[in-house]
Amino acid sequence: MTLVTRRSLRRRPGQASPVTAFVALGSNLDDPPERIRHAFQALAALPGTRVVRTSSLYRNPPVGDPDQPDFVNAVARIETGLGPRELLGELLAIEGAQGRVRDRPNGPRTLDLDLLLYGERTVREPGLTVPHPRMLGRAFVLMPLAEIAPEAIVPGRGAVADLVRNLDTSGMIKLAEK
Ligand code: AMP
Repeated sequence: MTLVTRRSLRRRPGQASPVTAFVALGSNLDDPPERIRHAFQALAALPGTRVVRTSSLYRNPPVGDPDQPDFVNAVARIETGLGPRELLGELLAIEGAQGRVRDRPNGPRTLDLDLLLYGERTVREPGLTVPHPRMLGRAFVLMPLAEIAPEAIVPGRGAVADLVRNLDTSGMIKLAEK
């Protein structure tokens, strides 16, 4: 699935060139595949942003709290003129617009969006850490990421294709449709 926004990526003088970033999507409430597809559309509608590629959808058992439905996960590759902090703000706004309620850690959610990678930049600020601190070792993040960008570099850790080797993918099911 490739979504390209009609919104212009033309740059204003002084504006930085677009950066390739990767966003992880997850949902286990209210028709999760539909939530993920909606979120792909919402990403494509962000200012100065286009969705270059989206992974397949993957069904995964919940991590941490087993007393909840399976998750559906995917990853989107975007090009964006937004800075990492602006992008995070937009991701939180999309989560909010899709009715995300944070009641318990690792609990069920209509939509979770995580900024995995922002170019090859490392960001460590209050409320924002990139690469996403919990992406390593998580098959439900790294498998869809490897599907669309095996060559992507996780700063300080290496290529996604190498990080994905030997991951435990038991219980993970690739869904036929996006
Ligand atoms: P969660 O709901 O568990 O995904 O946590 C969301 C919170 O994590 C947000 O309020 C962010 O401030 C913070 N956060 C820190 N780094 C990131 C990141 N790379 N992507 C998404 N959220 C992040």
